[in-house]
Amino acid sequence: MGRSRGPNKYQRAAASPQRDVSRLANGGARREMRRGREWFVREVSAQRAEKIYRCPECGNDVPAGQQHVVAWSAENLFGDSAAVADRRHYHAHCWRLM
Ligand SMILES: [Zn+2]
Repeated sequence: MGRSRGPNKYQRAAASPQRDVSRLANGGARREMRRGREWFVREVSAQRAEKIYRCPECGNDVPAGQQHVVAWSAENLFGDSAAVADRRHYHAHCWRLM
């Protein structure tokens, strides 16, 4: 398996600048399953929460300056850019309870 020949291809990829490109493609998001679908999820810190959003789970505002979660489908039929355009902002607790 090439284990004796130094880093495997995954380790090399992790150490190369390519890693930043793939991180950017997903906006540094992680994947999570919710309600049988796969989502990209990213935490928005209080400092970066500059706008008011409407939480689709509870229907209330996510105030500016509040840490929350942004999520978009990882299964969008129209591709990742369409999915990113369709991002939703959730209260952190709403997302956790979904
Ligand atoms: Zn909510």
